[in-house]
Amino acid sequence: MRFVFLGPPGAGKGTQAERLAAHFEIPHIATGDMFRIVGDSGTETGLTVRSHMDRGELVPDDLTNEMVRERICEPDAQKGFILDGYPRNLEQALALDTALDEHGAKLDCVLRFMVTGSVIVDRLSGRNRQDDKDETILRRLEVYGAQTKPLIEFYFQRRIVAEIDAIGSTEEVFQRLLLAIED
Ligand code: AMP
Repeated sequence: MRFVFLGPPGAGKGTQAERLAAHFEIPHIATGDMFRIVGDSGTETGLTVRSHMDRGELVPDDLTNEMVRERICEPDAQKGFILDGYPRNLEQALALDTALDEHGAKLDCVLRFMVTGSVIVDRLSGRNRQDDKDETILRRLEVYGAQTKPLIEFYFQRRIVAEIDAIGSTEEVFQRLLLAIED
């Protein structure tokens, strides 16, 4: 099973991706987590990554696409994966298609996490990440609206989107996820 989790920052994708990955015994591939590791590496690439993250901007596509392409070629990703935080714009979505085509594979399901603005702000302001400062949060939400949200329509046309009400306890949302996937 190959999943993409789509939704604004603070929608709870990471927590649910962790659970679903354990449930299906497939890797949880979170580009934000991967970039936090690269960003702390002290390398030149790390500095580039960090400068984009700290401003709430997207890391350049070439770097991002290559990192994901390599990751989904790893043996543990052959029976499936959950992409959390990728793709984040149309260019990345097209690069993902190309990478999957190379394996004769395709996405099974795009899970869209639905939350309200006030829930997002509450959740993000309760976290303690370096890129969770107020102005960075605002920029990340803008970038989501301008670049990532249009992907919903892109995947809707393929009829692979399932919408999840992501407000509720972790357990409630997880049960909704499982039901949506069974459908
Ligand atoms: P996240 O943990 O998914 O909210 O990501 C944190 C930050 O990492 C984002 O604000 C971006 O700067 C960067 N990032 C994560 N995923 C991507 C991606 N697919 N494309 C570009 N930048 C990304």
